[in-house]
Amino acid sequence: MQIIGLNREELEDLVLELGEPRYRARQILDWVYKKGVDDFGQMSNLPVLFQQRLQAQGLVVSAVTPAGAAETADGTKKYLFRLSDGCGVEAVYIPEQKRKTVCFSTQVGCPVGCSFCATGRQGFERNLTAGEIVDQVRKIGLEKKTRITHAVAMGQGEPLANYAATLKALRLLNADYGLQMAARHLTVSTSGVVPAIYRLADEQLQINLALSLHATSDQLRSALIPLNRTYPLAQVIRACRDYAAKTNRRVTLEYIMLDGVNDGEDDLARLAELAMGWLCHVNLIPYNPVPGGAYRPSPPQTCQRFLGYLQERWVAASIRQERGAEVNAACGQLRQQLKL
Ligand code: SF4
Repeated sequence: MQIIGLNREELEDLVLELGEPRYRARQILDWVYKKGVDDFGQMSNLPVLFQQRLQAQGLVVSAVTPAGAAETADGTKKYLFRLSDGCGVEAVYIPEQKRKTVCFSTQVGCPVGCSFCATGRQGFERNLTAGEIVDQVRKIGLEKKTRITHAVAMGQGEPLANYAATLKALRLLNADYGLQMAARHLTVSTSGVVPAIYRLADEQLQINLALSLHATSDQLRSALIPLNRTYPLAQVIRACRDYAAKTNRRVTLEYIMLDGVNDGEDDLARLAELAMGWLCHVNLIPYNPVPGGAYRPSPPQTCQRFLGYLQERWVAASIRQERGAEVNAACGQLRQQLKL
């Protein structure tokens, strides 16, 4: 069993079972999260016999092992992590001035199968555990010797299709005994799992929600994001509006700009209509072509036209500055090209 996925109560139960006082859990958590120590033998305030007992129980701290990385000139770095069963997942480190963001994965592959996404073409293998999720962020912080300030569930997988583990990981990232990241700096990006959006709104967490919108008609959205056949656009938008109303957090509507597919004047008028009058922000994303992909990016002037039209109608909007395209670390490009 891995220590990294346990919350404080679970770790306290474990140390009590092993005959130690409750406060040993706090000591272990300090070593793991504050000092980045993975080896029980180095946890010098634990009795040696207890260290040995932890090892004898087959317990380990860590859940992922760095197995490769590629970095761009701007400092964006894509990591490949090996899991205990030999599977691999990727995560991306994105440094800006004060903000250090990790985009992490929640599944090996993805069951949603979006037509523009490299991960979607990989198929689905399995859900990650909470420990495997939170350890991606912890390991990158340790390797970069920096405090990770922001984390987004926007790597491989649909986070809300792995709800329990994703939520537990977000709570561990946020916990005072964990990585102590502000809930407002944590974001879950979903392709639109409607019941899970309602559930998330009731969690009493101040985390951000981003929706992969990408189309404004059911016909096109179902072609791009097959999950739209189960949860059509009107239902998804209703759930997002409910999330914004309940949490008072602005929902981000992600819109990948695909040349000749979703970037026409009709699309723009519908996008403005859909985003007006509630707490949301439209993020226009220049498409990153993936090898063998069928789409092309919209011309920059089309992206600017969308931005201007939305802003004239008082819709909060921006064009995302893409980072990491050189190492295929940009949105929709995470598929294990680094090799285990
Ligand atoms: S875009 Fe997201 S939800 Fe869609 S296939 Fe890719 S990883 Fe899955």
